[in-house]
Amino acid sequence: MAVTLDWLGCATFRLTINDLVVFLDAYIDRVPSAAPIGITVDAIKRANWIVVGHSHFDHLYGAERIAKATGATIIGSYETVRVMEAQGVPLSQMIPVAGGETIRLATDVTVSVFPSQHSCVWSHKALPASDQVCIGDLGLTYQEQQERMKALWDYVLSLGEEARLHLAAAAQGARGDGGALLYFFETPEGSLLFQDTSGHWSGILKNLRPDVAILAAAGRGNVDGEPIQGSLAQFVARQADLLRPQRVILSHHDNWLPGFSGEVNVMPIRTELARWVPRTELIEMGYLSAYRVFQRR
Ligand SMILES: [Zn+2]
Repeated sequence: MAVTLDWLGCATFRLTINDLVVFLDAYIDRVPSAAPIGITVDAIKRANWIVVGHSHFDHLYGAERIAKATGATIIGSYETVRVMEAQGVPLSQMIPVAGGETIRLATDVTVSVFPSQHSCVWSHKALPASDQVCIGDLGLTYQEQQERMKALWDYVLSLGEEARLHLAAAAQGARGDGGALLYFFETPEGSLLFQDTSGHWSGILKNLRPDVAILAAAGRGNVDGEPIQGSLAQFVARQADLLRPQRVILSHHDNWLPGFSGEVNVMPIRTELARWVPRTELIEMGYLSAYRVFQRR
């Protein structure tokens, strides 16, 4: 059995298990100033499933066209399904989930869904560097967080015409993240966890034991609803310590929206992982590299 993973930028991957093609998120068409992936949404002719971690544009935009072109079924939050329905994806091609579901994708492949958390986007304007230790911002109410979100939006809208136009097209009317989800794939070759934003519930992570974990490395990590008291690198390492995978594959760490995102410095993450989980291997994939996910060391 051949299980390969192609990174398609940001937190988007294409998982191929023999003949089965599963997209993990669908954000491939980005602003022109972002580095090209080597493929566009319109070039995708084959997909069976699209699992979406949350309904922000940098995860969901593209799923509507892939689903229509290929007949693939979208699995995502109720907000993801609402946005996709408004874009003309038939409801018969969607499965709304909230965590707790196990869906059979093929005879010997399933995916289980778990509730998760979005990174603390409200806590910063520019994304903090991976080794920047952030302290405080604890115990804020929803309203106080929303007040701080305004600063982020002002910042994003100050990025210029290219980003503004892209956001207007790509957001597709999504009302927030829709609730972040984790996906746990089980195949005869091994298990794979997919996370597309830097947040988690500790009680959920500590009971999962994936062979390989895709972990998002962007922004201020969210630990059980509160911002991490520490750096992004420490947050990623903390997750790896809870999950104990053989391998960690980073996501969301490229310069997907120049002017806002920047290239995440992986060295501090590598250092923290070596300290917390020395037996876990860190994989940095290039775009479209057809990585053999469960290859033996
Ligand atoms: Zn998001």
